[in-house]
Amino acid sequence: MKKIEIIAIEEHYIDAEINKKFYKSGGNKLESKLLSLGEKRLQHMDESNIDIQILSHNHPGVQNIPNKYAVKAAEDVNNRLLDLIQLYPNRFRGFATLPTQHPEKAADELERAVKDLGFCGAMIHGMPNGKFVDEIYFWPIFERAEELDVPIYLHPGLPHKVVTETYYKKYLETHPMILTAGWGFTFETATSALRLILSGIFNKLPKLKIILGHMGEGLPFLLWRINTSFGERAVPGVEKINIKSIFQKNFYITTSGNFSDAALKASLMEIGIEKILFAVDYPYNESKRGVDWILNTTISQKDKNKICNLNSRKLLFK
Ligand code: MN
Repeated sequence: MKKIEIIAIEEHYIDAEINKKFYKSGGNKLESKLLSLGEKRLQHMDESNIDIQILSHNHPGVQNIPNKYAVKAAEDVNNRLLDLIQLYPNRFRGFATLPTQHPEKAADELERAVKDLGFCGAMIHGMPNGKFVDEIYFWPIFERAEELDVPIYLHPGLPHKVVTETYYKKYLETHPMILTAGWGFTFETATSALRLILSGIFNKLPKLKIILGHMGEGLPFLLWRINTSFGERAVPGVEKINIKSIFQKNFYITTSGNFSDAALKASLMEIGIEKILFAVDYPYNESKRGVDWILNTTISQKDKNKICNLNSRKLLFK
C-alpha cells in the first residue's frame, strides 16, 4: 500500500538565541529535543514516518519577554526559522511567533511572516500577558489573520495564577501535570476558545480560522451542552449564539497529544472530517506513537489521508 503522507502541525522547537538571552532555562527536560533541528530533527522524523513538520516555537515564545524587546525578538525568531525551512523546504514549514505585547505590531509581523516568509499562520500561547485573547486589545491580530486568510493556532499556556492558586495548588507538588497537559492546559485553552466565540468576533470576522490542538481541548465532546446553554437556554432578551455552527465553521482541531480513538470519533461526529488535522505535539508526545495510532485507527483510508495531509495542505499551504 502506498505510504500516506504525514504532515504534523503542532511540532515545537526552541530558538537557541532567544533561549540563551531571555530564558536560560536549563529546566526543561526536553530542551535538547526542542533545540535540535536540522539533521537530528530530520532523523527523528524519518524514524517516525513524518514527512513534514510545521514548526512552532515552544511556549511562551517571545510573549513573556520584556515589551521593549518583543517585536525585534519575534522578527529574529521568524527569520531564523525561515533559514531552517529554506535548508529543508520539503520537510519544514512554520507558524510565526508573535510579539503579543504589541498587537498592532504583532499583526504586522504576522503579515510579514505570511507574505515575505511564506509561513502558514501563527501560534499564540495562552494567556498572553495574563489576558484572554478575546479582549479587543488582541483583535488587530485576528483581523489581519482573516485578511491574510491564515489561521491562528491557539496553544495552551499555564493557567492564570489566581486559577492555579484556587484550583490546583493542593496537588501541584504530587501531581504537577494538573497544571499542564493533565488538566490545566485543556481548560484554560477551551475557555479562551469559548470566550472568543462569546465575544462576537466571528460576526465581525466571519472568515477567521482558529486551530485548537489536543482534539479541540475537550470542546467536541461538550458541544451539545454548550450549544444548548448559549442557544435555547440563553437569558431572555440576550442574543442566542449558535456555538455549534461557529465551532463547525471557524474552528479546526488537531490530534496533538490526544491519540484516542474515542475522542477522534466524537470529534468526527461533531466537527467533521474536513476540520481535523494530524499533529503530535513533539517533543511532549512521541511522534511514532502518534503516527502509528492514526495509521491504525479504524477510519477509512480516504479519511486518514484527509487528516494526515489533505486538510493541512488545504488550510496551510498556499
Ligand atoms: Mn504543544
